[in-house]
Amino acid sequence: MSDQPTPMMAQFLAIREANPGALLFYRMGDFYEMFFEDAVAASAALDIALTKRGTHLGEPIPMCGVPVHAAESYLLTLIRKGFRVAIAEQMEDPAEAKKRGSKSVVARDVVRLVTPGTLTEESLLEARRHNFLAAFAAVRDDCALAWVDISTGEFRVMPCPEARLAPELARHAPRELLAIEGSRLDDVALEAGAALTELPALSFDSAAATRRLSALFQVETLEGFGTFSRAELAAMGAIADYLELTQKGRMPLLRAPVREAALGAMQIDAATRRNLELTQALSGGREGSLLAAIDRSVTAGGARLLERRISAPSRELPVIHARQAAVAHLVADPRLTADLREALSRAPDMDRALSRIALERGGPRDLAAIRAGLTQGGAIAAMLGDDSVQVLADAACDLTGHDELIDLLDDALVAEPPLLARDGGFVASGYDDDLDETRRLRDEGRGVIAGMQADYIAQTGVTSLKIKHNNVLGYFIETTSTHAERMLAMPDRFIHRQTTANQIRFTTVELSELETRILNARDRALEIEREVFARLSRAVLDRAPQIGQAARALAEIDLTAAFADLAAGAGWVQPMVDDSRAFLIEGGRHPVVERALKRKGEAFVANDCALTEAATPAIWLLTGPNMAGKSTFLRQNALIAILAQAGGFVPATRAHIGLVSQLFSRVGAADDLARGRSTFMVEMVETAAILNQADDHALVILDEIGRGTATWDGLSIAWAVMEHLHAKNRCRALFATHYHEMTSLSARLPGVENATVSVREWEGEVIFLHEVKKGAADRSYGVQVARLAGLPPAVVERAREILHQLESGEREGAGKPAAILDDLPLFRAAPPAPAPKAKASAVEDRLQGVNPDTITAREALDLVYELRGLL
Ligand code: ADP
Repeated sequence: MSDQPTPMMAQFLAIREANPGALLFYRMGDFYEMFFEDAVAASAALDIALTKRGTHLGEPIPMCGVPVHAAESYLLTLIRKGFRVAIAEQMEDPAEAKKRGSKSVVARDVVRLVTPGTLTEESLLEARRHNFLAAFAAVRDDCALAWVDISTGEFRVMPCPEARLAPELARHAPRELLAIEGSRLDDVALEAGAALTELPALSFDSAAATRRLSALFQVETLEGFGTFSRAELAAMGAIADYLELTQKGRMPLLRAPVREAALGAMQIDAATRRNLELTQALSGGREGSLLAAIDRSVTAGGARLLERRISAPSRELPVIHARQAAVAHLVADPRLTADLREALSRAPDMDRALSRIALERGGPRDLAAIRAGLTQGGAIAAMLGDDSVQVLADAACDLTGHDELIDLLDDALVAEPPLLARDGGFVASGYDDDLDETRRLRDEGRGVIAGMQADYIAQTGVTSLKIKHNNVLGYFIETTSTHAERMLAMPDRFIHRQTTANQIRFTTVELSELETRILNARDRALEIEREVFARLSRAVLDRAPQIGQAARALAEIDLTAAFADLAAGAGWVQPMVDDSRAFLIEGGRHPVVERALKRKGEAFVANDCALTEAATPAIWLLTGPNMAGKSTFLRQNALIAILAQAGGFVPATRAHIGLVSQLFSRVGAADDLARGRSTFMVEMVETAAILNQADDHALVILDEIGRGTATWDGLSIAWAVMEHLHAKNRCRALFATHYHEMTSLSARLPGVENATVSVREWEGEVIFLHEVKKGAADRSYGVQVARLAGLPPAVVERAREILHQLESGEREGAGKPAAILDDLPLFRAAPPAPAPKAKASAVEDRLQGVNPDTITAREALDLVYELRGLL
């Protein structure tokens, strides 16, 4: 038995084969249908019903579908779940196909490949985040990374040795990474949270790249953009090739590629970014990250710029100083800051509107967004005036000179245009005479119909007669069967069209003529509106570079004002940044922890950090019990360096920072089970990266190195790491440890100083003061902290006892811990009876008279001393 596929199925299979690796959305009327494995995968991913349709090779064909009008939300789910989707549209009117013969299928073709890195729809994008597509290319030993955000047009490239790929990906967090087939970058992509798309070698050909890029930017030569290495060309060329493939010829509007110097930014590797929770909290979301705590921007463009700045703080002093000066200017003028922010909040996202217009996916509302953005921009430029600081003056300059386009859009568009151009209604009256005339005809036609109805009533005497409209008959006259007789008696005038259960419908020659006039006028009006839309889009695209520039200027002003608002509201100061090796912070705070504590009504204890400028290296060895605040202190200093070099103010009362070239952190790792590494392995890999790379301008944060292994192993490793940092890396470092044995290192290494987070002990319990001061912790209070955590009293008591034996054994030279432990009584059925309470009652009496809700922290501390004295 032959089981030839139907012509439609044959077409489906052909398109399917031409678009491997993607689910095929196959347009059938008002639905996108999926068949075979696509249907099975999509129905599971979208949680929609899986049905069957016909058979193929004797088997039923699995099928599922989504309505076209709701397709975007389904697309989003699929993209989030890692799918790519090819969208095949009907390329002709079904009527056309019918004309060719009854077996003929409507022509269909893929118009777009939707992938994580190539989204442009508002509903699929996160407004306040970039959506980067990256490409990594290697030409022999030369490697490069290019990245583009097609929703905003930003296009950049930089040299990038393979070893630096992971940190660079961590910085940009692209949604999708393009690499050559067989690149084996799966792990790197996974780590960066990017979908990996492998392309054939041809896509990465550097000669073809020059051609593709010249065509993309419509230039004869790329020299005007700078000189690029072959690897850089290959990476950019792969992006151009992939955009051609996915956008099917409609190319996005990209800005000229900018070559980013590898050394322009503070280097921060992937582990450090994660540990410091710069843009994402360890728990996954944005909440709890530095970004969430400091983002005061009021525009999406400003938010995206902030994310870029803290992901890549600058290393160029003039740039940092200019940005700080701009923030300082606004801090000094809160009135101006507030006015700017108010005006900015009304400026829409021009970048993304512009990119949709370029991709022919835009609508009238995108034109209106450009109009509103440029209009607000003009107002903002006027507020800034001429005598502003450099950064703001430059931005103001980019915001002026758009009057002609604003006027054009103002004249042409209604105040609140609809989303889609399809149904018209967005061109303002008075803009196009032809359109106004046609619209009058159309609207008058409607008025004439009302008059006609009155005439017919008069002629026939049927008062219930009505002129109505539906999609099948168009305009018709309707009356009830009982009243129809008079009209049936005038067949020359009233032409019978239809009889329904209770009604009889007629038309007349003049009514159908009028209808044709109305329909023609409507179609003609729509056509004129479409022409106007195309004309306005062209006018906008002609000025795309200037509009892009204006959008960037708005983002820069927004970010500056946001930093100023933050600094003024939270009492932050302008840090002094120079090319020394200083790291002096007074009254430093952790912006995220401080905010969290504030919500609970608790105060954050500010702390100083002074890595002696004279000493190279300058290392603080920080000891103190768990929970004392060591990690918080370490991280807050790293964050202050980032904020300072991002051009903002810092949470401190004074700060002097010598440019930080690289920032490294090793902060309490979690098991990386996805890659089969234990906590200890992760810790050692990260430590190795630091020791191999940190230069003498690096800032290194090490928290509890060696915790993941046996005590003596851990201590030995921590010790050796410290010596290496001191002798070889010669960098600035903060090193937290609970091995207080290490404090003796400061006597032997001149660049090392001891510091400790102080605690007080009272009645066997610890009180955390969160104060960092010079000196060493005397003990680790682990047993007390364990008790606070709710370990059963018997276990805590037993631990105290073992600790006591170990400590006294050490003092008396009783030998190795193992030997001491051997001497401990192995098992005790019950904890010792509680000590008689005679003395404690004095304490109890004193405490009875205290109301904890009304005493100050100072009084509480005094009370602790007093109680201690009573023991
Ligand atoms: P450690 O690294 O020493 O174990 P953490 O830095 O994790 O300690 O701090 C433990 C908790 O103490 C934090 O969650 C925070 O709530 C609080 N804390 C830390 N530093 C401060 C501070 N300077 N002021 C107030 N509370 C603090």
